[in-house]
Amino acid sequence: MLSTMQDDQLSLANLLRHGSKLYADSEVITWTGGEARRETYGEVGKHSAQLANALRGLGVTGDQRVGTFMWNNAEHLAAYLAIPAMGAVLHTLNIRLFPEQLVFVANHAEDHVVIVDGTLVPLFAKQLPEMKTVRHVIVANGDPASLEAPAGVQVHSYDELVSGQPETFDWPEIDERSAAAMCYTSGTTGDPKGVVYSHRSIWLHSMQVCMTDSMRLDQSDKALVIVPMFHAMSWGMPYAAMMVGASMIMPDRFLQPEPIAQILAAERPTFAGAVPTIWQGLLQHLEANPQDISHLREVVVGGSAAPPAMMHTFEEKYGVPILHAWGMTETSPLGSVARPPASATGQEAWEYRYTQGRFPASVRARLINDAGEEVPWDGESVGELEVKGPWIAASYYGGIEVDPDKFHDGWLRTGDVGKITPDGFLTLTDRAKDVIKSGGEWISSVDLENHVMSHPAVAEAAVIGVPDEKWDERPLVAVVVREGQQVTAEELREYLQDKVAKWQLPEHWSFVDEVPKTSVGKFDKKRLRSAHAEGKLDIRHF
Ligand code: ADP
Repeated sequence: MLSTMQDDQLSLANLLRHGSKLYADSEVITWTGGEARRETYGEVGKHSAQLANALRGLGVTGDQRVGTFMWNNAEHLAAYLAIPAMGAVLHTLNIRLFPEQLVFVANHAEDHVVIVDGTLVPLFAKQLPEMKTVRHVIVANGDPASLEAPAGVQVHSYDELVSGQPETFDWPEIDERSAAAMCYTSGTTGDPKGVVYSHRSIWLHSMQVCMTDSMRLDQSDKALVIVPMFHAMSWGMPYAAMMVGASMIMPDRFLQPEPIAQILAAERPTFAGAVPTIWQGLLQHLEANPQDISHLREVVVGGSAAPPAMMHTFEEKYGVPILHAWGMTETSPLGSVARPPASATGQEAWEYRYTQGRFPASVRARLINDAGEEVPWDGESVGELEVKGPWIAASYYGGIEVDPDKFHDGWLRTGDVGKITPDGFLTLTDRAKDVIKSGGEWISSVDLENHVMSHPAVAEAAVIGVPDEKWDERPLVAVVVREGQQVTAEELREYLQDKVAKWQLPEHWSFVDEVPKTSVGKFDKKRLRSAHAEGKLDIRHF
């Protein structure tokens, strides 16, 4: 029997209409370093229509890709809304990709138009001549004359192109399964891979973001959106905020601790989202420059593990709870959120909050071991996490070659390794490719790193597995010592004695100036492994 319900489409045109009309007074506030620029959602609706008209005028039709090379600001928000709502596909170009990767993704997605922030023109200009399909570049918040156009490319001023356009647009009816936006993963291995979100997946994901057990966004919120709109769709915050009328504060290019502290003081957001390094930087700044930040009812942290010490300082010293969440570009990105069960109190609640979180109803999860078998959710058995759900990727765009097992019976293999409690809380212990396989047992590189990094003299530590004749692999620790401090490998090994099992104690230590990082700032263990293989590390063996 078929249902008798309407099959209305979950489209971003409806989201834009809804947000800009019912929450016409909510605001998007763009930080400029001086006075903030303020725009109401009512105005965002009009500007989005003007942008859509302008893009049509440049010949954007059908599902053509329109790229953005931008910071988080009001113009980027208009692009987030206008491009999918007109039926085209928004491609957020990650400004931190390595140059050859940037050229690769623009060509692979076949971007027709790219909107570029004025301050990013110098970075973009170098790669533009190699972008084969780009015909128009629109410079926002800057001078178009600063960009020299290669043959066949026209450069426009955003303001001139958009102002004077009609403030309404006849938004088309769109099949909810069609592409709305795409985002390439940064590709620590191989080429970047394109994830293409649908109108439906974005809509459902936005509803989840707002739910009480997730970020709990509502119309009374003022959300500081620090997570870049060019990385994993800013964790879905812009669409979610538009859905419920929460105001947004966009930091533009001001992402250092001092301007973040200024934004907090000036705008007093109730909510914020960013990766741990941003908050670590802010904490250091606040040590020297105390400031009340208790207007934040909560901040969400993900992208890499939130260190428990940081969570405690935030809450106990500044009165701001940290909400830990896990996800990836392929999961839109919200996969799990660590809100403890209502019955947990005290340290028990903290233990839940340290985890990567509990899965929402729409995300199914399972753990698969080396033998390809599912392992139980007993809080101990470890396996690779696989997930499935309406906002989880089922493939990559355009036949990028990946490990054929990446999508496994309709499940996404996340490449993350961990354990799950019977009540569905995930704890990640590693990335699959980073697990150290020693004598048939797995050693978590993340665990070792956290223990070493808890030593006061250590600024950073990255652990990789290195070949070992007897055990297959053994851990090697690359340590960056804090400025002005000193510590030896002997002392660090001694420090780990009561923290890890004896057989896990690393016997290879190397002191390095810095841990190599990927374009999005995560430890690049591939480069560390090659440095080791090429004999470039100075190692102290035990
Ligand atoms: P990439 O780093 O490959 O570009 P993403 O930006 O999509 O990919 O990052 C996703 C990955 O980041 C996850 O697979 C996971 O390894 C890591 N990650 C995300 N959130 C957390 C978290 N809360 N704790 C630990 N790791 C996390």
